Amino acid sequence: MNPITDVTDITDITVKQAYNQGRQILSKAGLDSPAFDALCLLSPVFGIRSRAELAIRGEQTVSPTQQEAYETLIRRRLREPLQYLLGQWEFDGMPLYVGKGVLVPREDTLALVEAAQEALEDVPSPRILDLCAGTGAVGLALARRIPDAKVTCVELSEDALPYLRRNIEAYGGDRVSCEVGNVLEQPRLSGTFHAIVSNPPYIPTSDIAGLQWEVRQEPAMALDGGTDGLDFYRAICARWTKLLLPGGTLAFEIGYDIREGVIAVMKQHGIGHIHERKDFSGISRCIFGTRVAKTPI
Ligand code: GLN
Repeated sequence: MNPITDVTDITDITVKQAYNQGRQILSKAGLDSPAFDALCLLSPVFGIRSRAELAIRGEQTVSPTQQEAYETLIRRRLREPLQYLLGQWEFDGMPLYVGKGVLVPREDTLALVEAAQEALEDVPSPRILDLCAGTGAVGLALARRIPDAKVTCVELSEDALPYLRRNIEAYGGDRVSCEVGNVLEQPRLSGTFHAIVSNPPYIPTSDIAGLQWEVRQEPAMALDGGTDGLDFYRAICARWTKLLLPGGTLAFEIGYDIREGVIAVMKQHGIGHIHERKDFSGISRCIFGTRVAKTPI
């Protein structure tokens, strides 16, 4: 929306004052980062994207319509994740489309992206399969980092697919494609891959209710990994690694307490040379290995 020009539309409140009010509402409600959130929410209403822009344009007056729009976003923030309200969230340099129905990409997931990228360093024109793709964060980041890679993203959720398709259109060019499929079932895809990557649902079912309220706004389908959190790792290792070329890489994101379980499942299914990679907090976040079995698994 443009800054107001019509004098009949002027209130006596400035952008800076609207921001301060917003920040206070979020702060009183006990949100973790009220100033950051109030600043981010200026963007959809006023087009202000940084503290520097707020300093420059802070004395401009706002229209009642703008004030109401901003306050509505602030109030919604008490019940909804910031990323869903903004509609886009950056991952690895790409402002991915996000919203209700799809998992918001986390920075931690870069551990998976980096591990897969390194494993594919010497592979010309690698073919990559991204299972439980969600927004497409992992597959799209790999396609961007490896210019001759071809990526197939698999997703089942009707709610997540529109975001995935939009992100592929915006950032994937003709090297990233999307397949509708259930990772818990046998693949209906043909072809072989140099790497399979996945950030599957991995929270044990009984932990879901105790998650932070914001995480509970995200789709249970993207979080719930079954009784021990390992359902998807088992299915991927048992059913999908047959699409992996011998010597190909299988790389998973994992939750903080399922490391041993994931390693055991991988070993059972002919995955060797298993390594891990930590996230920015020093938590083991990615487990990866190579398909050593030569015969079909
Ligand atoms: N990393 C997410 C969380 O901590 C979980 C994502 C997943 O289950 N793959 O909430």
